[in-house]
Amino acid sequence: MRAFEYRGGALHSGEVKLEEIARAVGTPCYVYSGDAIRSRFEEYAGAFAGMPHLICYAVKANGNLAVLRLLAGAGAGFDIVSGGELFRVLRAGGEAGKTVFSGVGKTEKEIAEALEAGIHSFNCESAGELEVLSAVAERLGKKAPVALRVNPDVDAVTHPYISTGMREHKFGIAMSDVEGICEEARGLKGIEIRGVSCHIGSQILDFAPMLEAAERMVELAVRLRGRRFAIGTLDLGGGLGIAYHAGQSGPRIGEFARALRGKIEGSGLEVMVEPGRSIVGEAGVLLTRVLYRKRSGGKEFAIVDAAMNDLIRPALYQAHHEILALGERKDTARADVVGPVCETGDFFARNREIPDVGPGEYVALASAGAYGFSQSSNYNSRPRAAEVLVEGGKWRVVRERETYESLVAGERV
Ligand SMILES: *Cc1c(COP(=O)(O)O)cnc(C)c1O
Repeated sequence: MRAFEYRGGALHSGEVKLEEIARAVGTPCYVYSGDAIRSRFEEYAGAFAGMPHLICYAVKANGNLAVLRLLAGAGAGFDIVSGGELFRVLRAGGEAGKTVFSGVGKTEKEIAEALEAGIHSFNCESAGELEVLSAVAERLGKKAPVALRVNPDVDAVTHPYISTGMREHKFGIAMSDVEGICEEARGLKGIEIRGVSCHIGSQILDFAPMLEAAERMVELAVRLRGRRFAIGTLDLGGGLGIAYHAGQSGPRIGEFARALRGKIEGSGLEVMVEPGRSIVGEAGVLLTRVLYRKRSGGKEFAIVDAAMNDLIRPALYQAHHEILALGERKDTARADVVGPVCETGDFFARNREIPDVGPGEYVALASAGAYGFSQSSNYNSRPRAAEVLVEGGKWRVVRERETYESLVAGERV
């Protein structure tokens, strides 16, 4: 299904006209298609049906409670990277028993909270972390279920900031160290090693490196079983890329899953994946209003009311987001689309052919459902945007626009 499309000259999500939302809620405003999110999750679930599997949605892509609730209802597990994300999952009604905890820097407090909640497992990233996990678990009279996050040393071929599986990256335990670390961990009473995991990067369009990682990880699992470690799960992380450019096609979830099954099914391992972007990315847009047009320095600018604090991906990753007028129009202009923030990096498009929209008109920045709101900030003391969920022909605000009061909450003079 397509989350957003033009009907009768107006951009819609299902039955809902986006301009109606922009007028009622104001801008900037994120809009998510709940139906599109559910359908992506179901694509993953269907692709792994008939073999033991767990799909853990990566909360950091979009942690809105309504999005988490929707996915929990569809049967998703969750991949978290902080105590705050665990809090969100539980608040949204997600199951702790289907939640995995990733990240290189878990604190004792976060570990204790996750143990108390009874999470599925910790993706453990170092020998030092194993010791802390064991100590905290013993103190609480529990055993910490552990999967070792391994660095399989493959090149994900993506933006360097979101490539995570090469030898020199901070993530995971080096493949050559895993067996030694497992042997040393035999003495740790508070942990139980049950699986292996990896995550080689994000926005991966050619999934061949993920299959190569899977192959290396299956071999590792077999070697560890040979040493009498009860390895039951193989977690391949997230990373499937989505369409950011017009005409690009979306993630090939079914094809990826079929290829992966071919590598894993014979091993008897339960497969786990942690998709984030490929579930919510294309299901969200950021709506913004044109404030001004101006010509300066021989260039044309469209200045909009959203900024890098709302969507930092262009500034951070040189990311591309298509710019769609909410009222379809054929006339175009070559312009930079920029926000009000005092940084030259505050742009959404540079020297691009865009719809020739003037002050008061709305545009949508496409494919903004992942790493959009979740990476937003209050920089320049800008209240964060509202979030809206469209489901079954109806829309509702699922996070109110922040106020000036919320900007200073917690501050003291
Ligand atoms: C970020 C991350 C994910 C999700 O990645 P996507 O590219 O959004 O699918 C999954 N697992 C881990 C460990 C991550 O850090």
